[in-house]
Amino acid sequence: MPRTRSQSQATINFPKKKLSRTLDKAKNCHNTKLEPTHVQAIPRSPKKILPLSPRKRLGADNLCNTPHLPSCSPPKQGTCYQQAKLVLHTAVPDLLPAREKEMDVIRNFLREHICGKKAGSLYLSGAPGTGKTACLSRILRDLKKELKGFKTIMLNCMSLKTAQAVFPAIAQEICQEGGSKPAGKDMMRKLEKHMTAEKGPMVVLVLDEMDQLDSKGQDVLYTLFEWPWLSNSRLVLIGIANTLDLTDRILPRLQAREKCKPQLLNFPPYTRNQIATILQDRLNQVSGDQVLDNAAIQFCARKVSAVSGDVRKALDVCRRAIEIVESDVKSQTILKPLSERKSSSEALVPKRVGLTHISQVISEVDGNRMTLGQEGAQDSFPLQQKILVCSLLLLTRQLKIKEVTLGKLYEAYSNVCRKQQVAAVDQSECLSLSGLLEARGILGLKKNKETRFTKVFLKIEEKEIEHALKDRALIGNILTTGLP
Ligand code: ATP
Ligand code: MG
Repeated sequence: MPRTRSQSQATINFPKKKLSRTLDKAKNCHNTKLEPTHVQAIPRSPKKILPLSPRKRLGADNLCNTPHLPSCSPPKQGTCYQQAKLVLHTAVPDLLPAREKEMDVIRNFLREHICGKKAGSLYLSGAPGTGKTACLSRILRDLKKELKGFKTIMLNCMSLKTAQAVFPAIAQEICQEGGSKPAGKDMMRKLEKHMTAEKGPMVVLVLDEMDQLDSKGQDVLYTLFEWPWLSNSRLVLIGIANTLDLTDRILPRLQAREKCKPQLLNFPPYTRNQIATILQDRLNQVSGDQVLDNAAIQFCARKVSAVSGDVRKALDVCRRAIEIVESDVKSQTILKPLSERKSSSEALVPKRVGLTHISQVISEVDGNRMTLGQEGAQDSFPLQQKILVCSLLLLTRQLKIKEVTLGKLYEAYSNVCRKQQVAAVDQSECLSLSGLLEARGILGLKKNKETRFTKVFLKIEEKEIEHALKDRALIGNILTTGLP
């Protein structure tokens, strides 16, 4: 299947495993129900760092794989580093700079179709991390407040076992509001009847990662794109995918019916300037001195735009670079939360993230991740992450299984910390650490709606881990002692 996410040029070679996110995503996604109106409270305390990995997140609190944050004022708590990491999240942001034009097109399309009670379809294409899901989520959230008389169904097709499974998934969503779920052959008939019933709201059906509906003969896609054209249809279909040519593949048949062709909108990869603007805009949300210097932002924007224009990657790289500096500073001083600081001199950033830190992260992801444990690079692999990896290693050894649940891992990790008299982080931070380790390609996560059932497994050889984690004093001790 041609997917743009697997195309890359040289410069930054993010590990292959990560580039082909298709598999990971498929594994990670279990929930088909993605409710755009449910908004979770922003984790304010530094302990509750944003959920999961710096990559896409799938979970109960997400909207089509991109978690939602409510409108929020900038974070006030935590060190300057924690605050900066918080604003560089990859959830749906309040503002989406550099996408004004695309958002206008989508907003106008939806207003026109919802207010005019006009069925129709729109197809959004673009490479990973170009803001497709985020823009649409943001707009739907705003329109919910502005317009009445429409119902939204959002499905992430990644979570479907087969292309055909999209129909029962839609039926499930529709039937939640009264009525029993139609089964078998009746289902399609009932779905069509529902979409064309005289009374009822306009139905905005969003199918994210729609290229997953690629099926033999393209029957599934044909059916979906034809629905808006059934007489009296109330369906407004929005498809999102990476491939530009998805609709081309079904065009031959749709061509015969000119009006069935969806309106198309492509999201081009972000340019260097756009990425820099997005990063800057986020960092402006933190008051006081800027944690990343301008050269660092520019360098990150240049490197990422040269490879993919995926802003998710730029955000990940920056957060990781901050983490490096943070642990460096932590090893020298004890950081005080900003709120506890009195004098203005203390509001200064102890050490800024510079170009070299960004460059260090990029070469880490470049495949040198296992040099992390070597002399001189110790600080870039924070202790808590090391302990977590050790605990996972010991647990998989002890249980003789490859995957363990996050709940079990947390238990083992807490025991190890207690035994070693190291303060353990809480469960939500443990989840965030797992995400960081996943981003480094050291472990894999198979997400589950219930966090503690998320499966964790090592992605690299045991020997390599032991070598990488070599930390004569503590880690050696943990490994030889085994699980308490
Ligand atoms: P994929 O094809 O992999 O699903 P996508 O195009 O749907 O990618 P999004 O999920 O929309 O990508 O974007 C990822 C994250 O990047 C967003 O949740 C958001 O945090 C950030 N982001 C994307 N575009 C912008 C923007 N213009 N301004 C600020 N943040 C952005
Ligand atoms: Mg998306």
